[in-house]
Amino acid sequence: MNWNKSEELYKDAEEHIVGGVNSPSRAYKGVGGGTPIFMEKGEGAYFWDVDGNRYIDYLAAYGPIITGHAHPHIAEAIAKSAYNGVLYGTPTVLENRFAKMLKDAIPSMEKVRFVNSGTEAVMTTIRVARAYTNRTKVIKFAGCYHGHSDLVLVAAGSGPATLGTPDSAGIPTSMAKEVITVPFNEIESYKEALDKYGDDVAAVLVEPIVGNFGIVEPKPGFLQQVNDLAHDAGALVIYDEVITAFRFTYGSAQDLVGVEPDMTALGKIIGGGLPIGAYGGRVDIMEQVAPLGPAYQAGTMAGNPASISAGIACLEVLQQEGTYEKLDRLGEKLENGILNHAETYKLPVKVNRLKGALTVYFTEDEVENYDQADATDGEMFAKFFHLMLKEGINLAPSKFEAWFLTIAHTDEDIDETLRAVEKSFKPLAN
Ligand code: PLP
Repeated sequence: MNWNKSEELYKDAEEHIVGGVNSPSRAYKGVGGGTPIFMEKGEGAYFWDVDGNRYIDYLAAYGPIITGHAHPHIAEAIAKSAYNGVLYGTPTVLENRFAKMLKDAIPSMEKVRFVNSGTEAVMTTIRVARAYTNRTKVIKFAGCYHGHSDLVLVAAGSGPATLGTPDSAGIPTSMAKEVITVPFNEIESYKEALDKYGDDVAAVLVEPIVGNFGIVEPKPGFLQQVNDLAHDAGALVIYDEVITAFRFTYGSAQDLVGVEPDMTALGKIIGGGLPIGAYGGRVDIMEQVAPLGPAYQAGTMAGNPASISAGIACLEVLQQEGTYEKLDRLGEKLENGILNHAETYKLPVKVNRLKGALTVYFTEDEVENYDQADATDGEMFAKFFHLMLKEGINLAPSKFEAWFLTIAHTDEDIDETLRAVEKSFKPLAN
């Protein structure tokens, strides 16, 4: 495969854009380096790059593109909104419509507010929880990513009962002291943190099904205990459903696990590929938000007609019968094929999958928390990633990310992908 134009463009990008990319995960740092491929066109399950190479795409833009690229219904909605004016700064009927669609799909979101990204949505839920409880601390779970606002870029301390440390330069230690990070799926550590800091905890923030150290489901009963213990301590529970909402079912992960949080943050899929975030929750909590209440949150672009139109169109596509059954069926085929090839070549591979999202870990062990995901073989993944890319399969460049199927993928795409997996596993076995 020839990547000459991508290589030239990356050099040029490095001259003008910091690190040559507009989000660090797009650089290939997590897979031992290399030139990020410059894509030129996306259609359905495919990408074409600037050198004319074709790829089957499983990145799906880190989750939002569940309908496949350039879905005609979404493209038409965006075009129509462009000709109607993309930004008004006034209320629109589209916002009412979309808010109702979200509320119907996720009933715990009794009131909704639109923002522009998942980062903003999560950041604001924390502010609102603090306003509601008049407390400051937050408990979160190791390896869950909640965007890049200061409060959630905090690493775990040395144990469940210790406060966090900044996970990025530029974040004050005073801020990190407001955050306690405990392992996912381990209720004892969580209890210990609540025992020590419970009276000061405004919110417990969690991805109900993890997407950020691979796809990791909660152990039976874990999320119910998270809820019960938080509520006993007077804290609110926030579900970060930026990845999970509309990914596994038409609705939310809270629906799948049968536990309702007090507030929910959304993003990604609900924008159909355009920038969006949303948050919502119980009415009495949401009434803390301006203009009704004292917690301020605003946005020039919030609820813009283009993003809202794309979001409505995306959910309309997902409402079609058989959507999630198809994602599940193709996901299962992909998982089984990967595991069969791994067995043939005696490679230590584990696949965590839920419906049309899966993560391939190079390990002999189960992955149920971040430490276990971190312990999987990153070098082997890096080699696999580059081999797959040469075979025309575009994966996320990190061992912690998921492969996302879209409704545009076909059985033939899975067959082609599995041939590439076999070819890529072969040299790894030697
Ligand atoms: N929350 C989760 C679970 C995410 O995966 C992400 C992004 O990957 C975010 C929040 C932040 O969303 P955004 O990148 O739209 O700011």
